[in-house]
Amino acid sequence: MSEITTADYIAEAKKALRNPILQDALADLQTRFGRGTAIAYQNLPEGPDLRLKAHDIRAETIENLDVVLETLAKNVRKNGGIVFFADNADAALDYCLAVARNHGVKLAVKGKSMVSEEIGLNTALVKAGIDVAETDLGEYIIQLAGERPSHIIAPAIHKTREDIGKLFTDKIRIPYTDDPLSLTRAARKALREKFLAAGIGFSGCNIACAETGHIVTVSNEGNIRMSTTMPKVHVAIMGMERVAARLEDHDILLRLLCRGAAAQNMGTYVSYIGGPRYLHQADGPDEFHLVILDNGRSRILADVEFREMLYCIRCAACLNVCPVYGKIGGHAYGHPYSGPVGAVVMPLLAGINRCKDLCQGETLCGACQDACPVNIDIPRMLLALRAKLADGDPNWNVSRDSIAEKGIYTLWSWIIQNRRIYDLFLRLAALGQNLLPKNKGMIRRLPPPMSGWTQGRDIQPVAGKSFIDRWRSGEFK
Ligand code: SF4
Repeated sequence: MSEITTADYIAEAKKALRNPILQDALADLQTRFGRGTAIAYQNLPEGPDLRLKAHDIRAETIENLDVVLETLAKNVRKNGGIVFFADNADAALDYCLAVARNHGVKLAVKGKSMVSEEIGLNTALVKAGIDVAETDLGEYIIQLAGERPSHIIAPAIHKTREDIGKLFTDKIRIPYTDDPLSLTRAARKALREKFLAAGIGFSGCNIACAETGHIVTVSNEGNIRMSTTMPKVHVAIMGMERVAARLEDHDILLRLLCRGAAAQNMGTYVSYIGGPRYLHQADGPDEFHLVILDNGRSRILADVEFREMLYCIRCAACLNVCPVYGKIGGHAYGHPYSGPVGAVVMPLLAGINRCKDLCQGETLCGACQDACPVNIDIPRMLLALRAKLADGDPNWNVSRDSIAEKGIYTLWSWIIQNRRIYDLFLRLAALGQNLLPKNKGMIRRLPPPMSGWTQGRDIQPVAGKSFIDRWRSGEFK
């Protein structure tokens, strides 16, 4: 996984804030999908409380994940599929490469899959001499541009159609156009050739069903269906949490996933894939492999404080309402998962100190939980991560992030618990603030280490006389 520092996070965030095209694109995304998803939940026949039921379904599945995964593996094998449990990214990559090599694959096609971003599948394939083509239009654009996705569902949200026109002229040698229809047609033509030539198709898995032993993929372009049925071999990769125990649970999650992801009642192409094709079937792969990836998830499962994060079905609804994501976009997060989900998942998967800016950068406004189709309490877990950074935690190999900050808050806690000290502090602050620059009675700039709070706003000065003092002096009688 990539390494980002606080300086990178701040620099990328500033870059995004200065980019008016990105700002417009993010505002448009949040207006359309953010509001659309809220309406879609309201319009559910069962009402928005279905999210609470989905939360319980996810809780039950995750509590019994060992049994549910065994059942899934048994039923996939019964359907003729091959199941591989990968402990980590390297094991998953070795397995995928071995399957590709066994079939002498020179070209792979891939449906959009965040878990494949997590393990770095494309890089590994290319390193092994296997060409790989992303087939989701947004991912295809990103791949041609040599960039990373900036949104889980809309990976090329940061690109304008003019950018894409220039890119296609440069990379697939078509005359320049910024007409979306012509650009889409050009991509389709280029990708059709890849589908026909590919020896292997990779996909993610939106949700698997243990009871039936199938996986579901959802797309609005039909590309995943092509990637998983045209090549002779299909390898699906799923995080080990992306499973429902029963078909009825699975259907509830699928309906909510489509609403959360794109405010749709159902995605345009939903494929239930239950193994390789039968002999009498014309379409479908001869081999179906399901890679079930751990890569740090067992550790999350083992900690009751963070287990809830495994309920996530990666719909991206939280990104579409998050005020932070809505300003800094996905690239500033520096990791495959961005927005509120990334701010919790990435520290847990890649290291809490290493990804501290992600969980410290969110506002704790709670919009993510309101938008989440499975009602995950992301703000609670953001706070829990911050507590670990403040105090350190050997169980998660977290070292204390800032001794000075801890010292300041310990001192503050002591001050506010002692009435007389607190009153004295207020009086000193009221006097001290006279030295600070003001505008229309508001403080323009605080001194370090609080200067960040006044970087983009003025703040109210401390009252010259506290409420308690005014009360005691009989001012309110
Ligand atoms: S945390 Fe909730 S809203 Fe965000 S991606 Fe996961 S399921 Fe979707």
